[in-house]
Amino acid sequence: MHTVLVTGANRGIGLEFVRQYAEEGWKIHACCRDPKNAEALAAIKGDITIHRLDVTDDKQIAHLVKELKGDAIDIVINNAGVGGGDDSTDPEEWLKVFQINSIAPVRVAEALLPNLEMGSGKIVASLTSRMGSIADNGSGGSYAYRSSKAALNAAMKSLAIDWHRRGIIVVVAHPGWVKTDMGGPSALISPQRSVSGLRQKLSALKLADSGGFFNYDGSVLPW
Ligand code: NDP
Repeated sequence: MHTVLVTGANRGIGLEFVRQYAEEGWKIHACCRDPKNAEALAAIKGDITIHRLDVTDDKQIAHLVKELKGDAIDIVINNAGVGGGDDSTDPEEWLKVFQINSIAPVRVAEALLPNLEMGSGKIVASLTSRMGSIADNGSGGSYAYRSSKAALNAAMKSLAIDWHRRGIIVVVAHPGWVKTDMGGPSALISPQRSVSGLRQKLSALKLADSGGFFNYDGSVLPW
């Protein structure tokens, strides 16, 4: 049996990850900020443990590690994220976006290293965005969001290099433009399609792919 841990699992892409892995019989650690108000998540049938986790809260991360009791985890999916609020450059807002989108995924991965080392999958996948690609930026704006995802990409590249000797695969993945609260109703693809593409890519990853930036359809994206 395989085990996956998903952050931001109460709605959007995170919730769909839980749905699809549950359908395949995986053991799931579903993390969300407010488990009491996670009805859609609680309604999914399967081997699912729900954990309280605001990814920016180091105390909650430490508590999660305790709750996991040294359980093996095959895949950690850093999915939780926020949009950057248009083109604002308000420093406080910007830093908040950085804390959630760039710093927290690294903190979560570091804390779960012992669990990852015990697993057979040995994958850390972080949901980034094409908007974090500097090469792909043709329209400007979105200062906080773009820079937060570019920083996430840079940090995960370092983690990929640092954890290579441990056999842990670290990748960043763009889910496509997905119909969720963040993606909005005009988005091009459903969470089902995005997550099924991402899962297919994750299941085929080799250590040589570590440090990669992938699209949900498996193609490689430019930094
Ligand atoms: P949603 O806005 O639908 O969901 C975001 C999720 O992140 C929610 O579960 C939310 O929890 C959680 N979250 C936000 N802040 C925190 C926090 N501090 N601690 C824990 N959980 C938190 O977004 P999507 O599902 O669309 O996006 C998922 C990921 O995919 C994000 O990283 C996003 O940047 C990325 N992405 C999405 C795209 C899209 O088109 N949808 C495109 C490119 C990238 P809560 O309900 O408590 O707020």
